[in-house]
This record gives sequence, structure tokens and C-alpha cells, in this order.
Amino acid sequence: MQGTSDIFAIPLGNEAYLVYAPLHGVAFAASQGLVAALPGVLAGDGGDEKVAAFVRESGLLREPVSPVTRHHGAPAPTEVTLFLTTACNLRCTYCYASAGDTPATYMTMDVAKQGIDFVIDNARREGAPFAGVHFHGGGEPSVHWNLMTESLAYARERAGDLDVIAASAGNGVFTNRQIDWMITNLNGGMSLSFDGLPEVHDRHRPTVRGTGSSERVMHTMRRFTDAGYPYAVRLTVTAEQIPLLPDSIEFVLSNFTPKRVQVEPAYQLGRHEGEPDAETEDFIAAYREAQGRAARFGHELIYSAARVGTLTNHFCGVTRDNFCLTPSGNVSACFEAFSEDNQFSDIFFYGSPGPDGYTFDMNALERLRGLGVENRSFCDGCFAKWNCAGDCYHKSLAANGRGEFAGSQRCHITRELVKDQLLARIAGSGGLLWRDDRDGEICAVHGGDHE
Ligand code: SF4
Ligand code: SF4
Repeated sequence: MQGTSDIFAIPLGNEAYLVYAPLHGVAFAASQGLVAALPGVLAGDGGDEKVAAFVRESGLLREPVSPVTRHHGAPAPTEVTLFLTTACNLRCTYCYASAGDTPATYMTMDVAKQGIDFVIDNARREGAPFAGVHFHGGGEPSVHWNLMTESLAYARERAGDLDVIAASAGNGVFTNRQIDWMITNLNGGMSLSFDGLPEVHDRHRPTVRGTGSSERVMHTMRRFTDAGYPYAVRLTVTAEQIPLLPDSIEFVLSNFTPKRVQVEPAYQLGRHEGEPDAETEDFIAAYREAQGRAARFGHELIYSAARVGTLTNHFCGVTRDNFCLTPSGNVSACFEAFSEDNQFSDIFFYGSPGPDGYTFDMNALERLRGLGVENRSFCDGCFAKWNCAGDCYHKSLAANGRGEFAGSQRCHITRELVKDQLLARIAGSGGLLWRDDRDGEICAVHGGDHE
């Protein structure tokens, strides 16, 4: 809006507007007249007393919060993500990592120990409430089962009275013994990939033998549900499966009890490179219908870049010293740069192990730290800026190359879904005005696209 930074008037059609002031935590529907009067009132030029009273009541005059944070100095992470292996027991058609297409690599206990020691020592020194040990990577972590269980047992023993929070991403194809262990040991929860309707899931997530994996994943979810164990579900949507998304969401929520349900269009990376694009208007329409169905179960779907309620300059941990170890022990900031062979490893790798600890490339790290959305000129003027925070940098590199960030088709999806979230919040607050009364608190973000 002219003369007012970070207050946006978003046209809704028929001369109606959605006014959104993310840093004030305010959104309301407005007429063209109100939008025209706002800059003057905000500048203190008097104007219509009714408008002035509304502006005072709305919170638009409160001090805007600053969501910008930046790490400084030598990295001292208190959480480590171990990329245990690039091996996988599935052959998903859209796998970004093309897992199984290249010789598998496996982390050793020594590599895991060095990372665990480092974060536990940092957590103690910093007085952190816990240390984090998480499992992720370009393969299925549970395939490297001995290391998964032994590294976490080591971490808990090494941490003594310091809490260790452990979480993992996984494909859900686990044995009962593995499920028992996860329920007991992964106290930070599990993020499962499950695409909804069994026929949809099986089409894209076959086992190495080419059979569907949905039965196994549903068994895991039933076991988690019965145990009251916290898990999230992530659905990846290919272009051809877009029309089935609402039914898939309904299937998941009527049969299982995930804490969160995330939906993302499949990326044209890895084995899905060159496949039809799913970042389309059809995706937005299907997402909206799916959200309508999810609301009946009390759920708000998650799309990683549309995060009303979260104000941040970081899309993910890449700009916040994410500390992930490859099977060789090198330090990557990005979950998709899980191996030295990744085409962007020179950008995301910022450390290597040595006998006396890690050596950090501070130039590489400072460059990553400087990639917050406040430094992306393309995002200036975008009303979703402080919710989206510039989206996934790895995908931006894959889409735009190494030049200046230039957005992607995801920007349109993000803005439409942010708009939906704001309108839903306004409707839920009586239909006129939504105020996010966080009293200046900035929400922490966790994992970008990897909830
Ligand atoms: S969200 Fe993107 S940039 Fe961030 S860790 Fe994941 S793949 Fe990397
Ligand atoms: S321009 Fe695109 S990437 Fe940048 S904040 Fe807006 S939606 Fe996100």
C-alpha cells in the first residue's frame, strides 16, 4: 500500500480488498474507499474519524515486530540431523533423491558419534533445554537400522540428565519391532510419507520389488494411532493425482489420526525430472477442496510456504546453521544436499570433520546466513514475504540456476493459500477483523519443506 511498508491491500475482485499487515498481526476485509483512506490516516493526516477509530482499534498503529534474526560467529548447533544412508526399500516415482539408482552409502558409528558429541557439548555449554538427534537423508533412515538405534542409545547415554529429543522422517514401511522401538524412542515424532488413497499411494510409492507399499504404511499408522504416538503425514501430489487430492485427504483423516497433514506438489527433481508440472491452478483448486474436507476433521492442511501465524525471515534451517551430517561426516545445511555429489553441495556444505573436531568454512556459512528473505529483492513487496520467507532455496536453485532468486510457480500457490488462511481467520474471528495477538512474539519455524 502506498506510503506504508509491509501493509498490503490485496484485491479480491468486485472492488473488495484484503488488507494484511503481517508485522502488526492484522488482517481485515476492506472496501476501495477504506483502502484509499488508510495511508492518510496512518500518516497522521487526520481524515475520516470513523476510519481513524477503526485503524486505532485494529492494531495497525501498534509497533510492528521485526521477524529478522541471524546467526553469528562459529556455529554451535544443539541439534544434529544424521543422513544415515542413501539406501531405500522403496522406489518412489517422484523421489527427489533418485534413491536406489546409485550405489548406497552408509554412515558409520564414528561419524554419528562425532556429531552427537558436538551438539551435546554445545547444548550443555549454551544451557539448552535439550539436544536434538534426528534422522533424515537421501534414503530411508530405518534401512540403516543398527546405526539408528545404536546412535540414539549412545546419544541418550552421553547426554546423561540432559534431555535428547529425537525425530525422524520415514516411508512407513517398518517391521513391528521397528515400530515398537520408534514409539518408545523417537519422542519428537515421526513424519511419514503417505499419499492418501491406497491406489494413489501404490502408483507412486512401490517397493523395490514393484509391489504397492500402502498396506505396510497403513499398518504403521494404525499402530502409531493405537499407541497415541505423534506422527505427521506428508502427501506428495503429482499432476495426474491432483483430482484425487480431496478424496485422499478424506481417506487419511477418516482412518488415521496424524497430528499434521502436509500437502506439496511433486517437484520436478530426481526421478520426477521432466514429468508433468503439478504446480498449477488445478492444484490450488484441489487443495481448497481438500482443505474444506480437512476442516470437518478439525484440521488445517499444511503447505510449507503458506504459514499465516508464523513470522520469519527463514524458510528453513538452511539460513539458520542447520547441522546435518552426510554418511561421510561432512556438514550440509540442506536436507536435499545429502551427498557430496549433489549439484549444489558447494553451496550447502559448510564443514568437514577432523580428528580435533569440525572445520567450518565461514564464508560458505555466512553466505547461507545471508539468504534470509530480507535479502531477496524478488520478495520485496510480496504480502506473503514474512510467512513464506523466500521458499525452498534448493528448489529455487534447481529452477532458476545460481543467479539472482527469481521465484517460481510456487509463489502464486503460496499467495493464494496465504490469502485463504487470512480469510479463514477473519471469518473465524467474527468476519471483520483478525488480530494475531502474539504480543510481539515471533513464531519459531522448524523444517521448511520437511515438516
Ligand atoms: S527446504 Fe529446501 S533449502 Fe531447506 S533444507 Fe529443505 S531442501 Fe534444503
Ligand atoms: S515472492 Fe515467492 S518466494 Fe518470495 S516470499 Fe513471495 S511467495 Fe515466497
